[in-house]
Amino acid sequence: MRLDLEPELDSFRAKVRAFIAEHAPGRKPHTGTRAPADEQLPAIRAWTAALYQAGYLGIDWPAEFGGRPDAHPMEATIVAEEIARAGTWPPLSGGQLAAAALIHFGTKEQQAHYLPRISSGTDIWCQLFSEPGAGSDLAGLRARARREGDSFVLDGQKVWTTNARAADRGFLLARTDPQVPRHRGITAFALDMTSPGITIRPLREITGTADFNEVFFDGVVIPATDVIGQVNDGWSVAMGSLAHERSSIAAYSAALFPALTDLVRLATEPGPDGACAMDDPVVRHRVGRLAARILVNDYLNKMSQTAVTADPADAPARKVFFSELNLALAELGVALQGVDGILTEDDPAVRGGGWWQDALLYSRAFTISGGSNEIMRNVIAERGLGLPR
Ligand SMILES: Cc1cc2nc3c(=O)[nH]c(=O)nc-3n(C[C@H](O)[C@H](O)[C@H](O)COP(=O)(O)OP(=O)(O)OC[C@H]3O[C@@H](n4cnc5c(N)ncnc54)[C@H](O)[C@@H]3O)c2cc1C
Repeated sequence: MRLDLEPELDSFRAKVRAFIAEHAPGRKPHTGTRAPADEQLPAIRAWTAALYQAGYLGIDWPAEFGGRPDAHPMEATIVAEEIARAGTWPPLSGGQLAAAALIHFGTKEQQAHYLPRISSGTDIWCQLFSEPGAGSDLAGLRARARREGDSFVLDGQKVWTTNARAADRGFLLARTDPQVPRHRGITAFALDMTSPGITIRPLREITGTADFNEVFFDGVVIPATDVIGQVNDGWSVAMGSLAHERSSIAAYSAALFPALTDLVRLATEPGPDGACAMDDPVVRHRVGRLAARILVNDYLNKMSQTAVTADPADAPARKVFFSELNLALAELGVALQGVDGILTEDDPAVRGGGWWQDALLYSRAFTISGGSNEIMRNVIAERGLGLPR
């Protein structure tokens, strides 16, 4: 592992930091993968366009669409880290997921149509994979797309669809052949979210925000030209793009450092009696342990980025380590507030606008999204360690 980054990467990081300070659309009010309010969308579209235009996003895209094949492999990570560290909005993730699928599996026409629309912030994408009976067991999905001439007709339901209400396009998986083994009868589509027959219902979460949605399809017509990859080969398209999603979870790790700084501030603020939580050796021990785990988490990410060969257990192991650490940090952030820990963000007496309370309520989401931690542990055991199923 290399911890000393090359000097040119330091100057790249400084440039990115200055760019974010000048152009970012302000602080994101909550931690995690959250849906922006409608009035924030124009600023997020413009911010996405600015990042692509500056060459800070789409670094691994083909050069004709703005990619930079000669860029250092760490540059994309540095951009993601600096966005998280600044606490501002990342580009909405569906577009990058769809772009990965289109670049590896899409036709030249699809790439020429969709990639510039993603990089200009014109199209926001959502990910239409999970269903009520198909999350961990994604291959069990039942939304059905029947071929009718030059089109497919879609019926069924998706759930947990982040940003569905804001999305112009959906990266959809649907069953196109129910007769063959499950993995072989699925097709990927670029679905126009304004098509007749789509109903979107927001789902309110424990945080009080509605970041994801149910999406219903009733006879939705999809032109056959919007199939991504081959008909009935959607499983390969999905797996290729999900590898991107799991690696992006590591980008959130950078946000642990400012959170730790605030945790230490919280633990050293004097209470009404003049004493502070950090005077307690048990609190000092817990804060120290978390600080050590945050450093280990950072080293795990650096180790993975500088590794010569890819280990199949690497991304799942980092996802489990990060999400459980993030949860423990939020638990302590709320516990340190004592009885005030139960105040909600609309209470004028709540500390920091209720940031820690929201972070705690949201932190379970990271142990589920992008593949639950139980499933990640199965992957580590079976593919990483070669244990039996
Ligand atoms: C914040 C958030 C955002 C999301 N955004 C999207 C999105 O935009 N688009 C989208 O398509 N999906 C999205 N999802 C859905 C996500 O992919 C699923 O929630 C996830 O794959 C788990 O599926 P499930 O919820 O159906 O749970 P289930 O698969 O029903 O699992 C329930 C429980 O059983 C456990 N379990 C299941 N199978 C096994 C097994 N074989 N061994 C051990 N334990 C098992 C799981 O770990 C879990 O604890 C999002 C989820 C979250 C939390």
